[in-house]
Formats: sequence, C-alpha cells, structure tokens
Amino acid sequence: MDQIMSESSILHLQRAIQCKTISNKDRSLMDFSEFEKFIENIRTDFPTIFASGQIERFVGYSLLIKLPGKSDLPPIGLMGHFDVVPVREENWVEPPFSGVIRDGYVYGRGTLDMKGHVISMLEAVESLLSDGFEFERDVYIMLGHNEETGSILPDSGATAIRDHLKQQGVYFSMVVDEGGALIDGKSLGIDGTVALIGVGEKGYLDIELTASQSGGHASMPPRKSAMAQIFEAAVSLEKNKFPSDFNDATNAMFDALIPQMKQPLKFLFSHRQLFKPLLLKVMTDQPDTAAVLRTTCVATMASGSFAPNVLAQKATVVCNVRIIPGESVESVRNRVQTMIGSEIEVKLHNGTEPTDISPSNIREFEIIQETTREYYPHFKAIAPYLMVAATDSRVYHGMAKGVYRIAPFEISKEDMKTVHADNERVLIENYLKGIEFFKSLIRKRL
Ligand SMILES: [Zn+2]
Repeated sequence: MDQIMSESSILHLQRAIQCKTISNKDRSLMDFSEFEKFIENIRTDFPTIFASGQIERFVGYSLLIKLPGKSDLPPIGLMGHFDVVPVREENWVEPPFSGVIRDGYVYGRGTLDMKGHVISMLEAVESLLSDGFEFERDVYIMLGHNEETGSILPDSGATAIRDHLKQQGVYFSMVVDEGGALIDGKSLGIDGTVALIGVGEKGYLDIELTASQSGGHASMPPRKSAMAQIFEAAVSLEKNKFPSDFNDATNAMFDALIPQMKQPLKFLFSHRQLFKPLLLKVMTDQPDTAAVLRTTCVATMASGSFAPNVLAQKATVVCNVRIIPGESVESVRNRVQTMIGSEIEVKLHNGTEPTDISPSNIREFEIIQETTREYYPHFKAIAPYLMVAATDSRVYHGMAKGVYRIAPFEISKEDMKTVHADNERVLIENYLKGIEFFKSLIRKRL
C-alpha cells in the first residue's frame, strides 16, 4: 500500500473513532446524532461504495449495502457493527474518542471492537472497486448499530436486516463477522500461536428460581427459610455440572490441530474416543476449555426480604446459562426442574438456542484459512472453534453455507485485554495489514 493510501486509511479510522456511538439497552440514552455522524463520515470516506451500492437503512441506523455482482452465484456477506461499549474516561491515557496516534497505535473505543475491523473492510472494498475490480457475486455489507446490547432485543438492527434478506430469498455462500481468536497453543501441545475461526455459538438463557413462603418474623423462623431453599437449589446446580462431551465444533478443532500437536497429546487426541474420560477430565478443570465442552450454569443475582429482621416471602436467584450445541433451552429447563424439585418455581428469560456448526471442510472455510496463512505465515495452525460469547452473526445460521467469525488483525495478548476495557488500541501496522487481508479474502471468493 502506498503512503498516501495508508495515511487516508488511518484518517478514516480516526474519524470513525471520533463518533461517540455508545450503545445502551435504554435507547433513550443513546445519542443518535453520533450514529448519524458515523454514517455521514463513511459516506464521505468511501464514495465509490456509496455510489455503486444500493443502500438501505433499518431500525434507523443499521445499514445494508448491496454491491451487485456479475453472476447470480450465492452472495457473500460482510458483517460488522459500529456501536461501542461505554468508557471510564479517567482511566485512559488518551481521550477514548480522540483517535489519537501514540507509539504506533491508534487509541480509542472501538479500535478493536470493532470499528477497526469495519473500516479496514470498507477500505478493502473501496480500493477494489476504484481499481475497477468487478465482483463476480453480489456483496452485502451489513453494519449493525446495536450489537453490543445483543441480537435478542426486539429492535436489533442485525435481526431486521436478516429478516429483510430472508424475505428476499437471499442465501449466502459465506457470512463473515468478528470473533476470531488467537491463542497460545501450548496447552494443546503446539509451540506457537493458533488462530481460531468461529464456526458456531453457544445458546443463552437466564433462569430465575423462586422459593415462596408465608414470611413472618425472623425471631421465629421455620425449619428452612425461603433463602436457604433457594441457595441450596443454586448450589446444587453449580455442583452438579451439565455433562461434558466433544461436539461437532470441538471435533473439527482437534482434527485441524492434530497434525501440529506434539506427543503425547497428538496420540491422545487422535484416539480421543478411547481417551475421552481422561481428556474431558483434564479439559473441564480449566474454565476456558470447560466452556466449549458443556453447558455452563452460574448463579449471578440473588434477592430476599427488604429488612434484616424480616423473613423473605419470596427468595430469588438468577442463574446465567450458556447452552452447548446439541442441548436446547427446553432440555436445560427440564434438567434444572428435575434437579431442584417442583417446589421451586423456574422462569426462563432471554432464551436463545445454540447455533448449528458451520462446516470447516468446504471451500468457503478454506479461503479464510488460506488468507490467514498468506498474511500470518507464522501462525502454527488455523482451526475452527466454538464461540462462547454471542455476536450478531448468529442470526445468519441457516441462511448461509458457512458463517465464520474471523480476526483480520494480529492482536497481542496485552492489547486484547483492552477490548471492552481501558485504553483500547490497534497497532497501525496491523490495521493496514488487515486491509490487505480483506482485499485478498474478497478477491478469492469473487
Ligand atoms: Zn463487537
């Protein structure tokens, strides 16, 4: 990339960061003029995209840009969101919405999650278009404005765009979103960095457990209080973990990693059905690996009476559940109810099923692998994985041959910690490489 191109690409990112597009579940607290400013900025900065694309807005600020291709082959979808999470400004070394350059980094909320990703993607498309590159397939760019508060809310921009495309009968070759990860391969017997591409997501559920009693004075308590009843239920749910097992996503991950593994792990994972009890025992001892092998359930909130000397008439505990593919909201409810008995009332909130697992043996996945290898040849392996967090891309499962969550930038462990935290920043060198990454990825599929 030449000097002038790089400079304008950096400027475009800085301008994007300078829009305070902060998400809030309470929409009345969102400053939509900042979202309008962001849209105006990208309209100015990416004139070819906006001139050649069909632009539609959903739920006010989410954008769908369709760039027509020459053929009617299944299109590709490039996803992103331009809302960000709030900041604690006093902890930042540079103002979080300044986009200031410092020590080779652009600082600012959203540089990693995920305006950096979005702008690098737009830079790539703009550059291909202005070079006269003709897309073979239609390209859809889907930019959500309220991802950080989840696709389950009724006014989710991503869901509105999906519904519209579904109605039009669109079926994608591939949909690409954020969510790839880089991990140290050591615990898997691999010396070096492993790049992970998300092929599915766990489901989500909040379970409210309530024990009811007639109440009364705390000086003459019953044999067991409502609070004790509800705590017993919560403790029993945490103690009796959901069963763990390998699933399609973990199996695909191990298959991709085995060639790079050292002994004895290579042998154990190659015969993982045989060594399953041992492997599951070791892997479920660690919270991060346990999370991809089973449904997790953890108590997060509790409430009782309003005064220290009053018995609770209603005692409540809320557990947060992340559902593994293969299980469902219904199967989780059944297990929970059986375990805690019928005296405790079970209410479900925000239930979302786990996604299916996108295949990792098709050309679409290989293209991402190849592009990653091309730009990051020092990565020891590139493998599919199950995401334990939720992204907007989950709404496209069932509407694409593959839905993949990628990381266009190489991000150090240290910098990764700044996501949703203080001093979020992207290394300029990596951001610029991300643009080339997207150009190569798009060329391969088109
Ligand atoms: Zn994000």
